[in-house]
Amino acid sequence: MKDSYQREITYLRLSVTDLCNLRCRYCMPAEGVVKKQHSDICSVEELVEMAAAAADCGVTKVRLTGGEPLVRRGILDICRGIRALPGIRELCLTTNGILLPELAGPLREAGVERLNVSLDTLRPDRYAWMTRRGELGQVLRGLEAAAQAGFTGTKVNVVLMAGFNDDEVEDFVALTEQYPLEVRFIELMPMGQAGEGYLPGDTVLERCRSLTPAESAGVARRWRLPGGKGLVGLIEPMSHRFCGSCDRIRITADGRLKPCLHSGQEIPLRGLHGEDLRCAIRQGVAAKPERHHMAEEGRSRAGRDMNQIGG
Ligand code: SAM
Ligand code: SF4
Repeated sequence: MKDSYQREITYLRLSVTDLCNLRCRYCMPAEGVVKKQHSDICSVEELVEMAAAAADCGVTKVRLTGGEPLVRRGILDICRGIRALPGIRELCLTTNGILLPELAGPLREAGVERLNVSLDTLRPDRYAWMTRRGELGQVLRGLEAAAQAGFTGTKVNVVLMAGFNDDEVEDFVALTEQYPLEVRFIELMPMGQAGEGYLPGDTVLERCRSLTPAESAGVARRWRLPGGKGLVGLIEPMSHRFCGSCDRIRITADGRLKPCLHSGQEIPLRGLHGEDLRCAIRQGVAAKPERHHMAEEGRSRAGRDMNQIGG
């Protein structure tokens, strides 16, 4: 399925909840979010039906996100349902890792192929401060559990923030020497709760001169340390706008299609079935804007906090 700028759309990021067991300062308000009525959030069946319709339209890869997808009741059923869809070749999940010690094995059995684990600091005190409640050791145990469960190619997502973790760039890069992980530094986007602290991805290259170029993957530019087991990726929505190669759409946990993360445009999908549902998805894809305007406007037009969209 092509959008009006001839981009092939093959990737769906499906949010399964806006709730979270953490409160990262740049993502969620301290008090969390008002718990929606059960009926305001898509059921397991609705989510699988929407993914199936997207697959019929040409989507081949689904990433489950949130909020925190692992706090969603029925997450394993969602995974199994989507994995079984003809046309879906890849099922991935983005998580803060807190619940991975108990769920890594079941997720693998339910058909999840790859994990992205968000981890912005390797220092326990900083982690507790940034997440307002998390324990770093739990995430590290989660990463270990993922490896033991057979996950390979796990990515560690690090949002780069001046004055918070920019002095840890070298420590994160050093992880890739020993472990077969991809550490991905993400530029902080001006949306929702996010305030000051943006740093361009190039900061990583300035700090780590020994990195050598590796093959790019999707929207990530990548490098590796000589002899390193892992990779270092840069996701640079601000400084290297990658809209020209965007291949994704999003569906929020309340069932609205967002053709672009940074646009206020939303197409309600709930209550639609069969050809009507496919038609609404195609309409959303046709309405996908050419690019975002965060650099000129200094703010995203997303209209929701990140936890309510799915990063
Ligand atoms: N709870 C899961 C997690 O933290 O991985 C999934 C949802 S979270 C919204 C997805 C990703 O979005 C995380 O890696 C998070 O760091 C990132 N994120 C949230 N707000 C952001 C912002 N303003 N700029 C850049 N990345 C952001
Ligand atoms: Fe929760 Fe992820 Fe947002 Fe942190 S980034 S508050 S873990 S949804």
